[in-house]
Amino acid sequence: MVNLTGRAKMPEQPPEIRARNFKEVPFGLTEEMAIQEAERCLQCKNPLCRSGCPVAVQIPEFIKLIKEEKFAAAARKIKETNALPAVCGRVCPQEVQCESKCVLGIKGQSVAIGYLERFCADYEREMKLTEVPEPAQPTGKKIAVIGSGPSGLTVAGDLVQMGHEVVIFEALHKPGGVLTYGIPEFRLPKKIVEAEVENLIKQGVKLELDSVIGRMRTVDELMSEDGFDAVYIGVGAGLPTFLGIPGENLNNIYSANEYLTRANLMKAYLFPEYATPVERGKNVVVIGGGNVAMDSVRTALRLGAEAATIVYRRAREQLPARAEEVHHGEQEGVQFKLLTNPVRYLGDENGCIKGMECIQMELGEPDSSGRMRPIPIPDSNFTIDCDMAIVSVGTGANPVIFSSLEGVDRNKWGYIVVNDDTNETTKSSVYAGGDIVTGSATVIGAMGAGRTAANAIHNKLMGIKSEVKDD
Ligand code: FAD
Ligand code: SF4
Repeated sequence: MVNLTGRAKMPEQPPEIRARNFKEVPFGLTEEMAIQEAERCLQCKNPLCRSGCPVAVQIPEFIKLIKEEKFAAAARKIKETNALPAVCGRVCPQEVQCESKCVLGIKGQSVAIGYLERFCADYEREMKLTEVPEPAQPTGKKIAVIGSGPSGLTVAGDLVQMGHEVVIFEALHKPGGVLTYGIPEFRLPKKIVEAEVENLIKQGVKLELDSVIGRMRTVDELMSEDGFDAVYIGVGAGLPTFLGIPGENLNNIYSANEYLTRANLMKAYLFPEYATPVERGKNVVVIGGGNVAMDSVRTALRLGAEAATIVYRRAREQLPARAEEVHHGEQEGVQFKLLTNPVRYLGDENGCIKGMECIQMELGEPDSSGRMRPIPIPDSNFTIDCDMAIVSVGTGANPVIFSSLEGVDRNKWGYIVVNDDTNETTKSSVYAGGDIVTGSATVIGAMGAGRTAANAIHNKLMGIKSEVKDD
């Protein structure tokens, strides 16, 4: 009989406890729960769930293996198309991707595909069953990957398997990109990213940390002097954006990027054991409504805030953050001030923020993004008290690489223009993918771009023409 409504519930830390620690919120499914959930899958002949997955993971196939208690085999099945299942099982927006297409969702509850993905990937890692595949025969070709976020890691993993020599150049002292410096420990434990990077190194990928390309070496030098046959640019979009309103230079106004980097990468929550401090606001306001804003506001709570509030200019239905993150935040005590936009920061006699003047908004006609446009209501200004503000209203292209990059075209927002079929830029043998092409998007999107580029680079370097379309 079809089990329409018995979707597995993930056990998790109680909200009042977890709101004050950095440990992961959900514990993961037990074996029994995973098997029971796998049994709900109808093994559809035409699996719609798969069409909702940006990298077309073989969903019914891996779920069947879980049902048969072949958990490590299930993880390997996912890895045929998705190199980072333990990451994606935690951070992918499944509710708008694979799970939104699952037939069980039409009349009941979709299969918990993300939970199952996480379960078998964790099982494989924790039981030390992770296999390090043998790469193909060396090709003698050498590829430089700039940036070690999900797109750089994917392209590196694929190319090393094809027999190429791969070197990743990473500006920071730790690899992983946003997975390491942005997404907090309570959502994505760092040991998971570290394990994935270790596997790549075992496969032969070389990793050069503290290497800022554009400053220490240029792309041209990598190709003409260091002997790289191709370069992949996966430098992300981490340049903070601010509101440009009066008072922005007051103390204790952070960009979300700086705040999260201090807390995650530099482990400021363990200061003074770790050297980097971060301000611990008591009454913190986070401006924005995406995943980054939710991560910031929940981090503020864990750093001791007595009140932590999201200020967002649209309504609840338009919050871009994952529904699960909003739900978790609410349970932990995050407050929401919706249809509200700051117009001015207010300072005290010491030059520190003490509040912000806001204006009430209402929703008008849809804008170019299809979302209803927020419109200020005249004379509706009011003040919110706070001793810290975190600005999370979007980011731009990381600029350093461009200081010395000739011949790579960019669009009006500063993102790199690529051929959609190959991810090659307008400069021959220089490829790009992830957020530096799309603007801030998703982990799985960045990984998909890495895979497309890896195949195209391989084909070009090996002279395989058939799978590469002409420009
Ligand atoms: P990044 O992950 O940004 O990695 C780029 C790397 O390049 C960085 O390590 C950077 O240091 C390095 N670099 C930059 N310039 C240079 C240079 N000149 N030389 C050498 N290295 C350089 N997506 C989801 O799917 N789900 C989520 O829940 C989610 N939550 C998020 C939460 C936060 C706080 C943030 C910031 C983003 C979130 N995202 C989420 C978006 C997702 O993380 C990104 O879309 C994804 O990481 C992009 O991957 P990338 O490889 O293109 O770039
Ligand atoms: Fe299973 Fe749902 Fe996919 Fe059908 S659509 S195969 S029920 S996960």
